[in-house]
Amino acid sequence: MLTSLKPAVSALRQAAELIRAGELVAFPTETVYGLGGDAGNISAIERIYQVKGRPAHNPLIVHVPDIAAAQQCVTTFSPMALALARQFWPGPFTMVLPRKDRICPMVSAGKNTVALRCPQHPVALALLRESGRPIAAPSANRSGYTSPTTAAHVAAELSGLIPLILDGGPCRVGLESTVVDLTGTIPVILRPGAVTPDMLAASLATAGFPSAVHGPSSRSVTTVPEEVKSPGQLESHYAPRTPAYRFSISKLDRLQRYLRQAGNQRVGLLCWEQWPQLPACAETRVLPAEASACARELYIALRDLDTRHCDVLLIQYPEAMDGLWLAIGDRLRRATKELPL
Ligand code: AMP
Ligand code: MG
Repeated sequence: MLTSLKPAVSALRQAAELIRAGELVAFPTETVYGLGGDAGNISAIERIYQVKGRPAHNPLIVHVPDIAAAQQCVTTFSPMALALARQFWPGPFTMVLPRKDRICPMVSAGKNTVALRCPQHPVALALLRESGRPIAAPSANRSGYTSPTTAAHVAAELSGLIPLILDGGPCRVGLESTVVDLTGTIPVILRPGAVTPDMLAASLATAGFPSAVHGPSSRSVTTVPEEVKSPGQLESHYAPRTPAYRFSISKLDRLQRYLRQAGNQRVGLLCWEQWPQLPACAETRVLPAEASACARELYIALRDLDTRHCDVLLIQYPEAMDGLWLAIGDRLRRATKELPL
């Protein structure tokens, strides 16, 4: 199959026609690029799993243009879901709710729930409106690998497998959406993202709900109850192909010991700008110290380092896990192993 990479503005109508015809289209969102297919079309959904090499037990997020469209995908859109949608949609925020039959069971890996998000990117919204379909869209990468945040990232992995990639420039957020399970009495954060636990708690309180939230919050750390764990929250995910280890700046001696033992290995280093004392390596990428700029550039730097023929990547791990750092730390933990002693 020939893959076209086209500017989003000129190819939007073609993209919408492809979606309606049951084909797949990669498109930009503010978080990462998505691999989209009609959420009501079984063969489109099968093709998403096939193109990604995604395990059948990992459900997909369904994208909708507004709250009214979301309500058509679920059996109950609770008052709490409505309050959160009003606050955080369109945006990097996904809610797990009870699924209606209109959405293929395979979208949800057979579960009776569905994850819904209204994205903020103008191209994603235009594609949803023009196609008139809810669009299931996981990140547009092969399963387990780093998510794509530019159209070139998508082309590097999926060329020849899908008919069209819409190029809308680099993603503004750069990390996958916050996923919150709303099927129980207390919301559970299944995946941290740009909508932080504090933002969620504040929004719930303002709307008159109890502000308790389960999940990996930095303040009220409560663990995710076993029965609501997200099947996609695999321990190893988002990983580069080069073996990658994380290190902490407070254990710099460990890093130095590792580098002494590394001999003539070609080492790639990913770190933040405020640590000039880090040792020189064959390839070094320096990320901004401010969280949202760091998140935006993280996958670009990771993917770039992964093409530099290094034997190993050493990646700095954040010390403070507050706000957006919680999401950055979550992805880095899954993408790397701990530095060996
Ligand atoms: P991705 O498509 O790669 O952004 O991953 C989507 C994430 O949403 C995965 O971690 C899934 O496990 C999670 N997810 C999607 N649908 C559901 C659902 N019905 N219940 C729980 N988690 C879900
Ligand atoms: Mg993904």
